[in-house]
Amino acid sequence: MQLQDAYDENNIFAKILRGDMPCIKVYEDDATLAFMDIMPQAPGHVLVIPKEAATNFLTLSSAAAEATIKTAHKLAPAVQRAVNAPGFMLAQLNGSAAGQTVPHYHLHIIPRQDGLEMALHARDMADMDALSELAEKIRAEL
Ligand code: AMP
Repeated sequence: MQLQDAYDENNIFAKILRGDMPCIKVYEDDATLAFMDIMPQAPGHVLVIPKEAATNFLTLSSAAAEATIKTAHKLAPAVQRAVNAPGFMLAQLNGSAAGQTVPHYHLHIIPRQDGLEMALHARDMADMDALSELAEKIRAEL
């Protein structure tokens, strides 16, 4: 994956945005969608994506960047409250060399607990019922 590659309409997040694949939704507005990461690095790991078809930070419009940050800003405290996390990490990877595995721009909100290591990136599938319960808790905190 090169940073300036054309957008792949068949990437998994494009399919989620089209409704061709399911997601465990946490929040949606006109410009963004947020849902649970199915291979979370910590309980409460949420992804925020713009609806704009952009592969990475360099190809994202400033309007979509602003909308995505605004949604992350709204969600992060709700995520923290839902899992009682004193901290969180905001992460964003550009290009496969940086570890990006899905070529649709997204922000990771990963809650952090003192002394608790994060799980490996995109490795172990979570239990879907547990993820749905966490999503409900986050929505309740919004
Ligand atoms: P990145 O490697 O930064 O592109 O992150 C992609 C993230 O998407 C990883 O953390 C994966 O666990 C996650 N992921 C992959 N497929 C799905 C999916 N169908 N629903 C939710 N999260 C996904």
